[in-house]
Amino acid sequence: MTSTGERLELRNLARTFAEGEIRPRVSSWERAGVIDDSAFGKLAELGFLGMRIPEAYGGLAFDAATYVTVLEELAWGDGALALSVAIHCGGVSSMIVARGTEAQRRMWLPKLASGERLAAFALSEPDAGSDPASIQTRADRRGDGWVLNGVKRWVTNGARAGLVIVFARTGPDAIDAFLVDPATPGYRVGRREKTLGLRASETVTVHLDDVGLGSDALLGGEEGAGLRHALEALDVGRVGVAAQAVGIGRAAMEHAMAYALERRQFGQRLADFGATRAKMAEMHRRLEAARALALRAAEAVDDAGNGVTRTGPDGLTARAAVAKLSASEAATWVADEAIQIFGGYGYMKEYPVEKLLRDAKGTEIYEGTNEIMRHVIARELLRATRDA
Ligand SMILES: Cc1cc2nc3c(=O)[nH]c(=O)nc-3n(C[C@H](O)[C@H](O)[C@H](O)COP(=O)(O)OP(=O)(O)OC[C@H]3O[C@@H](n4cnc5c(N)ncnc54)[C@H](O)[C@@H]3O)c2cc1C
Repeated sequence: MTSTGERLELRNLARTFAEGEIRPRVSSWERAGVIDDSAFGKLAELGFLGMRIPEAYGGLAFDAATYVTVLEELAWGDGALALSVAIHCGGVSSMIVARGTEAQRRMWLPKLASGERLAAFALSEPDAGSDPASIQTRADRRGDGWVLNGVKRWVTNGARAGLVIVFARTGPDAIDAFLVDPATPGYRVGRREKTLGLRASETVTVHLDDVGLGSDALLGGEEGAGLRHALEALDVGRVGVAAQAVGIGRAAMEHAMAYALERRQFGQRLADFGATRAKMAEMHRRLEAARALALRAAEAVDDAGNGVTRTGPDGLTARAAVAKLSASEAATWVADEAIQIFGGYGYMKEYPVEKLLRDAKGTEIYEGTNEIMRHVIARELLRATRDA
């Protein structure tokens, strides 16, 4: 458990890093479509690649509330960088901590914490997104180990990753998670997507052609548990998406406020118009509510780690879906209104807010679309009613 004072210090550290090291580079990353390697080196130096890894494996073991607090600051700096960190920390590291064997933790966690390896999460496929149970990538037994064949789509960090968790079908009704070193023969990075927003983020297709793995690659060593592992990782991931959305939205709101204080029309500052003030109040209200939901869901991440049930309206699964849904919609709304406050300038690439709207939209889609979030919330509510 991180104390409130420590959390604030870490928030300030992340804010200083975002202001001094991320923001000045965002435009060039966006143009180049890639984040500089040096940014990952600095993240590693600050310990931000080991946020969710226990100290025994070289991490900083932040509680989940501190993790989302730092993630919000990184997203305030740049959504693409924050997404990359969130997949590494929330999606993959947390999963190995929770479900890896002791040998897998010792093998991978120190490398992830130090930044020696960046992690990726390969679940989606060309024909399987919202319905992960329909994936077609296969893992067949070969001797003691496995051989993977299939295609994974939209793998964030996929090109620079040094560890990829690949989900594959091991039987008609069984899915498993495999820890794959991308240097393994048969692993090939394919098409790099051109995305609406988060343009510096690596979103790639991965081809798996007879990728031979040892028996130790099966996450947790337990067969048939992969879909459960994926859904658990997505719960944690969605809390991270909520934090990313709040950071992106806050950046848009701040830009809009600064502009409204400067720009004059009809002899007044935009900030003096009641219509502008009402927009600002509504932006702040929505983002405050979203942050509170992200922190509430973060509490549930730690509770779930201590064995508290994830199910029902108050469990992690529902809270994570509520937080992700609310925060992503808040971010998109806020960024849209921020463009409106900038007027014509907001529509121009020279000004910062159009990028933030493009970035915010992504948070409504990845790690489960908002339609799926509504489905998850309703399912958890009905489960509680049925079980009563
Ligand atoms: C920037 C970005 C990064 C990503 N990174 C990763 C990654 O690192 N790893 C990874 O595995 N995946 C990643 N993804 C994939 C992402 O998780 C999927 O795009 C997402 O889960 C939706 O799947 P889909 O795109 O196949 O849409 P589909 O599942 O085809 O859905 C299309 C539409 O139908 C709706 N829909 C589907 N089912 C239902 C239903 N039951 N009820 C109501 N509506 C429904 C959806 O909400 C959506 O509006 C990434 C995507 C993006 C955009």
